[in-house]
Amino acid sequence: KANRLFHPDDTHIKVGKETIGAERLSIMAGPCSVESKEQILSIAQSVKKAGASFLRGGAFKPRTSPYSFQGLKDEGLELLKYARKQTGLPIVTEIMSTEYIDEYVENVDIIQVGARNMQNFELLKQLGKTRKPILLKRGLSSTVEELLMSAEYILLGGNDNVILCERGIRTFENYTRNTLDLSAIPAIKKLSHLPVIVDPSHSTGMWWMVEPMAMAAVAAGADGLIIEVHNDPENALCDGNQSIKPEKFTLLMEKLKLIAQAV
Ligand code: PEP
Ligand code: MN
Repeated sequence: KANRLFHPDDTHIKVGKETIGAERLSIMAGPCSVESKEQILSIAQSVKKAGASFLRGGAFKPRTSPYSFQGLKDEGLELLKYARKQTGLPIVTEIMSTEYIDEYVENVDIIQVGARNMQNFELLKQLGKTRKPILLKRGLSSTVEELLMSAEYILLGGNDNVILCERGIRTFENYTRNTLDLSAIPAIKKLSHLPVIVDPSHSTGMWWMVEPMAMAAVAAGADGLIIEVHNDPENALCDGNQSIKPEKFTLLMEKLKLIAQAV
């Protein structure tokens, strides 16, 4: 079902007033984690002003260490809803368990499946029964083929609204947090009709690499980007090193417009 051979036209995914996979770049921006009402509202307002179309923010966080901040959970979801109400930005947030599907379907605009859950097949099957847009991130050590097979689990249930995300993979290079596989963009575009977005934040792990990699991704044909933006990265509870400040994000948006026009 994900295969372009049987579905030659690009899939367009409607989310409120936005369409993902069509002409316009879809930019999702916001903090790694929702931390407080003030934090999420301030960042939501800044990214909206800069031209983002979606607000990202984690409420349930898949942290490597169980001692790290795990997210504000249900309170985080409430704060995201509050920020959406104030700004009108649709919200994207990660789901960690099938138990939360009904709640996410009701309250979230795009359900994110994180890299660590790309092969949580039970979760994928259950999400396939919904009709919600799903942002499926590539697993840490997964091939493009495996990513497409995971998408297939969702599509098979009848949910056609799958957005794929290249977020960097494990390689022998350890200067960056992950290695951004830019070639995955044209590869996925060739093999599949599904929209592809790129996460320049998790793929590099460093805020100063976000801009060049975001621009490269758009030049390579990505349909959009998901970018971590924080108003106080030094004190962020998660992923501060890779988060850009709102001012930097605003400048980046200007540059992206020029590249998008050129491609
Ligand atoms: C995230 O988007 O905050 C996240 C945890 O991403 P990934 O699943 O790609 O590591
Ligand atoms: Mn993060």
